[in-house]
This record gives sequence, structure tokens and C-alpha cells, in this order.
Amino acid sequence: MSDRQIKKIVIVGGGSAGWMTAAALANAVGQSCSITLVESESIGTVGVGEATIPPIKYFNQTLGIDEATFVKETQGSFKLGIEFIDWAEKGKAYFHPFGRYGAEFDSVPFYHYWMREHLAGNVDSLDDYSMAWVAAKNHRFDHPMRDKRQIQSTYDYAYHFDATLYAQYLREYAEARGVTRFEGKVVAANLCAEDGFIEAIKLENGDVIDADFFIDCSGFGGLLIEKTLKTGYIDWSHWLPCDRAVAATCERVGDTLPYTKSTAKDAGWQWRIPLQHRTGNGYVYCSQYKDQDTATETLLNGLDGAPTSEPKHLRFTTGMRKEFWHKNCVAIGLSAGFMEPLESTSLHMIQYAIMRLIAMFPDKDMSPLLQEEYNKLTREEYERIRDFLILHYTATQRDDTEFWRYCKNMSIPDTLQYKIDHFQNGGRIVSHAGELFTNPSWIAVYIGQNIIPSRAPAITQMRSHVPVSDRLKNIHDAMADAAAHMPNHDDFIANYCQSAALQ
Ligand code: FAD
Repeated sequence: MSDRQIKKIVIVGGGSAGWMTAAALANAVGQSCSITLVESESIGTVGVGEATIPPIKYFNQTLGIDEATFVKETQGSFKLGIEFIDWAEKGKAYFHPFGRYGAEFDSVPFYHYWMREHLAGNVDSLDDYSMAWVAAKNHRFDHPMRDKRQIQSTYDYAYHFDATLYAQYLREYAEARGVTRFEGKVVAANLCAEDGFIEAIKLENGDVIDADFFIDCSGFGGLLIEKTLKTGYIDWSHWLPCDRAVAATCERVGDTLPYTKSTAKDAGWQWRIPLQHRTGNGYVYCSQYKDQDTATETLLNGLDGAPTSEPKHLRFTTGMRKEFWHKNCVAIGLSAGFMEPLESTSLHMIQYAIMRLIAMFPDKDMSPLLQEEYNKLTREEYERIRDFLILHYTATQRDDTEFWRYCKNMSIPDTLQYKIDHFQNGGRIVSHAGELFTNPSWIAVYIGQNIIPSRAPAITQMRSHVPVSDRLKNIHDAMADAAAHMPNHDDFIANYCQSAALQ
């Protein structure tokens, strides 16, 4: 063993970020070094974060987690995408599906042909060509097929789960693999006078825990990365102005929908996340245009079942740390930055931060080159997701409240304007390598929010011999038929992963 090898890791925080990190590091490096997690029950966790996106499956697979057991233990359900209601204009809904649109029948992408036919007035809804939506709207779910020739291979899925049960599940996993948990409040950190590295953290009861490497998963406060190392924060509130949320759970009513709902409200939007034992709800809003009491009233009036928890109030500032990795400390989770949960990206960003960290795992020297690359990649990830989220707001046609008028008229990042310009002028999607949201996601939101290109891509006009309308009809019919043969989502859960409490 090299004497520069890391022997002790301390994770501060036991929310989803802390336990996801502990579980993954226990799996990856736990044989070679000790991992300690410190959390404070009196401080608690943010307690939300229940909707995910498809790559979470790979996180679980890497950890060797059995899907059925996992969904069962976390009272989870399956998610085929997000329905956005009243975002473009009041009364209009669209679906952001997991997976792609249609099926390829030519070298020209499906959505280019859809656009041509749409502009010619021959087809209407793009949603009708998404296998995920055709299943979701019929409350159906099944695992996608692997055979790429089948229409049932064109969708993907993620999970909804109970955030507290998720952290508990990962805690058991991590502790079974040697992670040591300390209960207590961290009150200070000792810095090395020579190089400014963190040497140890001090707990309220006087205990001191030293380590070579510290992972800050302490939530919004950023105990180590900000309060100790003072790395600074970039504020994006002018582009994503929501800064508060009120969350409440309610009794589940009716079928467990295999998708998340996001409904635009006067000064933000409301989420609905269906689980096996309850439904999670929250109103994300902008405090400049809505006070806490009215927001709470809006949320509670919009529940479809009796409330089962007191409303929980949360405050945040959208943005990111100037540095995510500084000296011998990496911030993961809410301590690294925050973007509202509109596209369920936070847990994903935790997952990718962990994967990036494992791929660039340092020794005690904490190579500045590694830090630079890690920070660059993380910054790019944040900025790209940020632009995708802003698109939902800037592309509204709503002008019925001050909040929506602000969103409609605000300036937006040049990087996003460039993408919108390309789409408006000929339906081109500009995407970057490694971008989380790929072409179908951008198309879903462009079209859903009424950004319609002035003309279809030129190539579609040059392929008049392709029997497009026949192909579209076949795809449409094949999707309807496939959905009709899928199990109902609740039956699927009952047969595969029903929580013991509901059996
Ligand atoms: P926290 O849950 O806040 O955990 C912080 C931990 O640090 C706690 O254990 C706390 O006790 C500990 N701690 C803090 N200070 C100290 C101290 N001094 N000493 C000891 N311990 C300390 N993400 C999604 O992917 N999907 C969603 O649908 C989604 N919805 C969201 C809705 C809202 C309104 C918000 C605000 C966030 C949402 N998120 C969502 C984000 C998601 O909740 C977080 O990314 C995730 O829960 C990780 O949080 P965390 O572990 O970083 O922080």
C-alpha cells in the first residue's frame, strides 16, 4: 500500500446524498479504507426527493441491489415520465417521456418526419407517438423489451420512492459493508495551518474525528465546503426564481399512476408523486410573488386525498458552488448546489458526482489537476441541466400572473438561446456530448411548450418517396396494441414488488 493512499474517509450528512455516497464508496473502496458517516437526528434531513430518472437503475445495479426488493422496501412505484399541466398555457398538458418517440423507419429521425406532417396539418399530438405516454395514460406498466425491433423497447423507466425509506435502505446496505455511523452534531472543523486541508471534524460532545478525505453531504448549509472552506456560490435565481417549497403527503386515491405530475400554479408549480402507501405533493414557488400561507393553502386545496402530514416548508437558492471539490473536500448533494426538482435531477446529480469521484479517486496529494477536471465536468453538468429547466419557464405563453410574465420576459443564458434559435429555425436539436437530456427530452419540452419550428428539416422534403403517413399510422396502432397488452401498473406492483405493509 502506498503511504499516499487514502485510509480514512469521513462523510458528513446522512440524507440521500450521504447514504448514496457511503453505499457506493463502501462498494468501491471500502475494502481498502475506513468510511465513517456522521449525521445528526436533531438536524434531520430535507426529507423530500422522491422522483428519479432512468439512470438510477444503473446506480442500483452497480451496487447489486435487487429491483423488486428495493421498490418493495421503499414503497416505490414506476415512473414513465412527467406530465406537465398548464405550463405552456392554461388547459394544455404535455408529457416528457422516458425513451424516444416513434420508431426509426428511415435514416431521417422520426421526429423530423413528425414535424413535417405536423406542419402540414396531418398529425396532431407528439405524445401519441411515445410508447411511454401511451402506456402511462392507460395506467399500464411493464419492463421494456430488450429486442430493439419491438415497439416495447422504445421506452424507459425510473422510480418514485419514499425518501426516508430510501436513505434507510442504503444505510443498511452501507453498514453491512463496514461503514461506521456516528450520531452527533458537527460543530467545527480543524484546518491544517500549512495547506488549509481539513484535518478533523469536531462533534458537539467533544469527539474529534480525523480523516484524509472529507465528503460534505450536509445539505443546503454546506458545512465543510462553504462554512469551513468558503468556496462561494453562484446564484441563478434570476433565471430560476422559485426559492421556496411547501411539501405534504396525502392518502393515495385511485390507481397508482406510473408517472409524476407537474402542474403550473400562479407563482410556481405543484408536484404529485404516487407511491404505494401515499402520495407525495409539494408546491415549489417564488416568495417574491407568493407568501407562505397562500402557497400552503394552494397546496392543500390541490391534494386529491386527505393530508397525512403537516406541511413542511423549505427554502433554497438555485445555483451551484464555485468549486465542488476544494482541497481534501468534495461536496455532494444539496451542499454542492441546487436546482428545483422540476425534472427530478438532484438524486441523479448525486449519482453522477459519486461516479465521477470514483473514476477520479485521489490519493492524499489531492492532485489539483483532478480537482480542476472534476469541477469542470460538474459545472458543465449543472449548466446544461439549468438551461433545460429554464426552457420550461421561458417558453411559457402564460401572462395571467406577475410570476409568469416575469418568466416569459426574462433574459436567458446565451447557451439556451442558441439552442432555441436552432430549433425554431428548422427543427435542429443542438446537443453536447455527455448531456443528460438528449434529443427526445428537448423535443418534448419545445413542442409541449409551443415552440414550433418555422419549417421542417430540409432533408424531409427530399424524401417524398418514403411512405411516412403509413409508417406513422402503423407506429400509432402498434403502440396502442402494445399498451393494451401490458399489465395495469397496480397489478404489476402487486405481482412483482408490493410492500409487505400492503399485502
Ligand atoms: P439533506 O437531506 O438535507 O441531508 C443533510 C444531512 O446532513 C442530514 O443527515 C443532516 O442531519 C446532516 N447534517 C447537517 N448539518 C450537520 C451537522 N452540523 N452535523 C451533523 N450532521 C449534519 N431530488 C430528486 O432527485 N427528485 C425529487 O423529486 C426531488 N424533490 C425535491 C423537492 C424539494 C422541495 C427539494 C428542496 C429537493 C428535492 N430534491 C429532489 C432534492 C433531494 O431532496 C436532495 O438532492 C436529496 O435529498 C439529497 O439531500 P442531501 O442528502 O444533500 O441533504
